[in-house]
Amino acid sequence: MLVNNNHLNERLTRKSQQIYHFIRKHGSVSKQDIVIGLKLSLPTVTQNLQYLTDMELVDTSKKILNTGGRNATAYTYIRSTRMAIGVYLTSNHISVVAVDLSGNVVDMEKVQIKFDLADEDYLKRIGELVELVKVRTDIKDESLLGVGIAVQSLVSSDGETIRYGIALDFAKTTRKEIAKYIPYKNRLFHDPEMACYAEVWIDRSIQNAFYISLSNSVGGAVVVDNNIYRGNSLKGGEIGHMLAVRENGEKCYCGKYGCFDTVCRATKLDEYTNGNLDAFFVKLRSGDKIAQEKWDAYLYELSLAIHNIRMLFDGKVILGGYVGAYIGDYIDQLCELVDARTPFEDDKAKDYLMPCKYKVEATAAGAAMNYIDDFFDEI
Ligand SMILES: [Zn+2]
Repeated sequence: MLVNNNHLNERLTRKSQQIYHFIRKHGSVSKQDIVIGLKLSLPTVTQNLQYLTDMELVDTSKKILNTGGRNATAYTYIRSTRMAIGVYLTSNHISVVAVDLSGNVVDMEKVQIKFDLADEDYLKRIGELVELVKVRTDIKDESLLGVGIAVQSLVSSDGETIRYGIALDFAKTTRKEIAKYIPYKNRLFHDPEMACYAEVWIDRSIQNAFYISLSNSVGGAVVVDNNIYRGNSLKGGEIGHMLAVRENGEKCYCGKYGCFDTVCRATKLDEYTNGNLDAFFVKLRSGDKIAQEKWDAYLYELSLAIHNIRMLFDGKVILGGYVGAYIGDYIDQLCELVDARTPFEDDKAKDYLMPCKYKVEATAAGAAMNYIDDFFDEI
């Protein structure tokens, strides 16, 4: 009889994945739990558990205490056995995070430094920060799944080239040039897609969503059927340049007038408080009249965009970025504004509009999570 080894390996891999995710989901399970839960035979489960144990993905050192009979081995997954690193390059900061297999940020470093890809020292600094986090987290070379680098630019679908980097000066346009001092597997990612990725990663029930990143520039990302949708030419979700003000709009950094970015970027608020967004919200809460006027104008424009997105996509709308981190306290007011626009009585914003849940360096973490998902696919 001919035996196709590849086919056998493939089957083993798929079963291992199934078992691994079952253990992740349930935390601590016995072999019998897996047999019953996944309707697999005992030899299949035993064989695959051995494989997962050999891969150092599953821990067998604990016992499940039984009231009668022998104590069974408890199978738990090891979170820190592999890790990925995420980097986020913004106009004034470099953020680097280490993420474990549960999606937790286990270490982070954020330094204030001006974005300047033409400066060799800046490129070196990126490499040094990656190394710092790697050493501090004690990630061995063979356990590092990869380094995801999020940038404020559209990125080619293979993660190799900068496309349309207009928010910042992209003096270097290839991954190789930007990651010159990162000696590990890496790739580039478009920043709002990564923040969106982190949101969907921690809440796998989100099937369709539009993520709006309300930072110093406005970006967006679309999730359709659990996958990032980039469109025909990678520009899917570019909500920042949607026309929001028809006449006499402000000039956008893209060169056009009246873009959504010009009315809903975070600086529309913190220009009032010397670039300090937290101070803006302190003023707003204290009843400051100008802060209130600015906030009302901001929410008005935002509610219009949310309404339009909902009419187009009929999915969840996630608000992230700098302002997204504060929006929770004002979500009822925003829902009211959105609901006033809908023609569908049963369509309530509170059911689909949500502030981002991932508060710690979501963009850098999302860039790392891509490597974790790749790893899960390969187990
Ligand atoms: Zn624009």
